[in-house]
Amino acid sequence: MMGKIKVKSNIVEIGGDEMTRIIWKMVKEKLLLPHLNMNLAYYDLHIARRDETSDRITTDAAEAIMRYGVGVKCATITPNEDRVREYGLKKPWKSPNATIREMLDGTVFRKPILVKNIRPSVSAWKKPITIGRHAYGDVYANTEMRITGTGKAEIVFTPDGGEPIRQMIKEFTGPGIIQGIHNTDGSIESFARACFAFACDQKIDLWFSAKDTISKTYDARFRDIFAAEYEKNWRAKFEEAGISYFFTLIDDAVARIMKSEGGMLWALKNYDGDVMSDMIASACGSLSMMTSVLVSPHGYFEYEAAHGTVQKHYYRHIKGEETSTNSMALIFAWSGCLKKRGELDGTPDVVTFADKLEEAARQTVEMGIMTGDLILVADKNPNNKKVDTEAFIDAVALRLQKKLKNG
Ligand code: NAP
Ligand code: MG
Repeated sequence: MMGKIKVKSNIVEIGGDEMTRIIWKMVKEKLLLPHLNMNLAYYDLHIARRDETSDRITTDAAEAIMRYGVGVKCATITPNEDRVREYGLKKPWKSPNATIREMLDGTVFRKPILVKNIRPSVSAWKKPITIGRHAYGDVYANTEMRITGTGKAEIVFTPDGGEPIRQMIKEFTGPGIIQGIHNTDGSIESFARACFAFACDQKIDLWFSAKDTISKTYDARFRDIFAAEYEKNWRAKFEEAGISYFFTLIDDAVARIMKSEGGMLWALKNYDGDVMSDMIASACGSLSMMTSVLVSPHGYFEYEAAHGTVQKHYYRHIKGEETSTNSMALIFAWSGCLKKRGELDGTPDVVTFADKLEEAARQTVEMGIMTGDLILVADKNPNNKKVDTEAFIDAVALRLQKKLKNG
């Protein structure tokens, strides 16, 4: 028997809820712990632990990521009133993802896992398209008003210690609606930096698109901040890596994406990213095949699956019924985190292990062994076999063992 591979520095492990918690344990016990010697700084974000600690555990977890640089997170319940009743919570605690994202000032990048027997609906796409969504401001932090009759709508800014500055929005001659939105240079700069850093890290081209022809101040500010950041800090690095930065109008970007072979990072404003990431996920098969990583401009990374806790499957599981929940995105969250840890530590054997884990998972699906969600979208083949949650992970474990043995 070969000895275990040593992971040099700590990894922050963030525990979660429901079905993903069940799968998390299987992935660790069957795919990771038999082969790796890791030091895990564990923060259990199970909803009951968040409640017990009045959510202190979530901020502790975010601080640990700032300390060690790399973390991996299981999906967690964002409590609503139903959950408050279900778990007898003190209150509907804030989304842990929102807390961690704010503390890390991070941007979320989402990328589909491609396998040969699940073809993207867009036939031109050969490589995964990563979406970088700016997760601050715009229409997600808006002030809206219904206008019920005639009158004057204005936008007013009062500088500290200065006179109000006014601009007319509309002289209403009848009922209508208005909306006030904002963003900050600081947030846009962090977003731009995270996108340039991610593209450089992955050695992929970066596209950024906005509606700057129509929004000559607002969207143009995004364009200008990206351009300035590129010239100041990234042009040389991009040229050295042989990758490019490209800004284009959002309509043009959409048209070009559909004809491209993929493989780029597509940076988008908040609303555009929200909409386009669902389009990419659905065109690539299923939400269960989307990976997600939070990248902070300070160089911290947190990996997770894009999907939630798969609540409905969990209720079936606790009733003792069979489940066929897909663990691909959770496996890739771990492999992503291990690759990054290995790169930062300068331990290529850890990176190689992570690559083999990904190959083993992909090949298992390509051989036709899949969970129910994928059977529905994969190429029809008599070898296709639907397996349950655990049997899928067991099949990946078997392939991984063979790969590790054959060097
Ligand atoms: P979800 O967990 O993503 O699941 C929605 C549906 O998508 C499932 O019922 C299932 O469809 C399918 N699905 C998702 N992941 C799958 C997988 N790995 N394998 C197979 N099918 C999968 O979303 P939700 O049920 O709306 O949310 C449940 C909880 O997750 C909520 O409490 C929410 O707050 C939380 N959440 C957490 C995160 C996070 O921590 N990052 C993200 C989103 C949601 P079928 O039922 O048709 O099989
Ligand atoms: Mg959405």
